[in-house]
Amino acid sequence: MTHNNRAIGQHAIVMGGSMAGLLAARVLTDHFERVTLVERDQFPDTAEQRKGVPQGRHLHVLLVKGEQIMSILFPGLADDLIAAGAVQFDFCRDLLWFQSGGYKARFAGGIMGLALSRPLLESHIRRRLLTRQNITCLTQYTVTGLIATEDNQRITGVSLRSPHGEKGVDTLTADLIVDATGRGSRSPQWLESLGYARPEESVVQIQHAYASRIYRRDQALLPDALSVMTAPMPPDGQRAGALAPLEGERWMATLGGWTGDHPPTDEPGFLEYARSLPNQDIYQVISRAEPLSDIVIHKMPSNLRRHYEKMKQFPQGYLVMGDAVSSFNPAYGQGMTVSAMEAELLGKCLLKAPSPNHLDNLAAAFFKEAAKIVEGAWSLAVREDFRFPGVTGPKPPATDLINRYVTRFHQSTFHDQETSYAFFQVMNLIQAPTLLFHPRIVWRVIRSGLARP
Ligand SMILES: Cc1cc2nc3c(=O)[nH]c(=O)nc-3n(C[C@H](O)[C@H](O)[C@H](O)COP(=O)(O)OP(=O)(O)OC[C@H]3O[C@@H](n4cnc5c(N)ncnc54)[C@H](O)[C@@H]3O)c2cc1C
Repeated sequence: MTHNNRAIGQHAIVMGGSMAGLLAARVLTDHFERVTLVERDQFPDTAEQRKGVPQGRHLHVLLVKGEQIMSILFPGLADDLIAAGAVQFDFCRDLLWFQSGGYKARFAGGIMGLALSRPLLESHIRRRLLTRQNITCLTQYTVTGLIATEDNQRITGVSLRSPHGEKGVDTLTADLIVDATGRGSRSPQWLESLGYARPEESVVQIQHAYASRIYRRDQALLPDALSVMTAPMPPDGQRAGALAPLEGERWMATLGGWTGDHPPTDEPGFLEYARSLPNQDIYQVISRAEPLSDIVIHKMPSNLRRHYEKMKQFPQGYLVMGDAVSSFNPAYGQGMTVSAMEAELLGKCLLKAPSPNHLDNLAAAFFKEAAKIVEGAWSLAVREDFRFPGVTGPKPPATDLINRYVTRFHQSTFHDQETSYAFFQVMNLIQAPTLLFHPRIVWRVIRSGLARP
């Protein structure tokens, strides 16, 4: 039974058991008699990497907004994570953040974050979700297609393939089916095969890549901070790096480069790349710390957005969420938080549905509001990416002008706690980007510019 005894449907299926799928499934357990999560991978019992989430080997920053939503969906989650070794830090005080030629002012701001590995976060959320009474998990099953009514107006189920080709469950039916299969989602093809248009796509080519390595954490090598962020210096400098604590007294070092300037995966090349960053903070640590893993690389060709909100016709009983809708340059750490915001939105849309029949309007209502969530994160990410020559695609209006202002804004944060605080609020998606343009903030940026030689 659902927890609020207000079931608006019998059965919901979520395809994909990563962050977007887990959070969507959690919300759906409040509104459907039962929920089935279908995942291609076998879930590990503990906080281990798995094939379907290769990005889990790289730094995963959990923005404050994402953590807040996850903690509402799973009360006590943050405490559990801290007990499991996640490191709590103050974005304003504990981060050594170098950008636009200087370090941000450091002070106790109280914008608290959690540093941890992606597998630890995912395993805790999964474990919490699977304790709910009305969830069933079907692992090692791949969704191969959609089943629709004869007139294709409503999606009624999915077809499945087990990895061993076993005959078992081969179709499932439901009132609502959610695609959370990530960037490689096949919804555009599946919808097309049912006679719908494919969603329009926005693609901003960045040719970005991350290379990451885990080290034993020795705080003596970084006495003054818990975490380091060295931003790139576009247009000429395309390289960035971050060092963050993980559970188990470890550090994750992630180096990243835009427009093909990718970090190497051999030890000397990785260290040399770290040495070539705008400052030596990360190099100084990782050249002396003990490595605990290989160096792994992940390439991200583009920011990709699928505009389901613009589709004139869309079948009933179907939704798409998470990276299947928008996948961003990971350098801005937004993906999991956008998934969480979409899960929260799904809950609000379902609360407005007075009856199962009302699910008919769900997709239009959901995609319209989800587009606003995506737009906020997209414009922050894409505008920054357009600082790099060679980035191509649809450029949001006034990007160059805004970027010039934002550079001056960053320079004001070297000494001004108020602008620095505003930055961390916007970056963590707990305030809208318009905060950076509030007259009070603009005045502080101008004043700080006048004070600089
Ligand atoms: C290198 C990198 C670093 C990142 N860093 C950050 C960060 O710092 N902070 C942040 O918030 N976000 C980050 N992200 C983004 C974040 O990982 C995703 O936004 C987040 O995982 C949500 O994605 P998702 O659940 O929609 O899809 P995914 O995480 O891609 O998961 C899709 C799931 O669907 C399953 N699946 C796929 N096809 C099928 C099928 N046909 N049938 C059944 N199951 C299927 C897969 O096995 C997988 O479990 C990063 C991404 C990358 C690539």
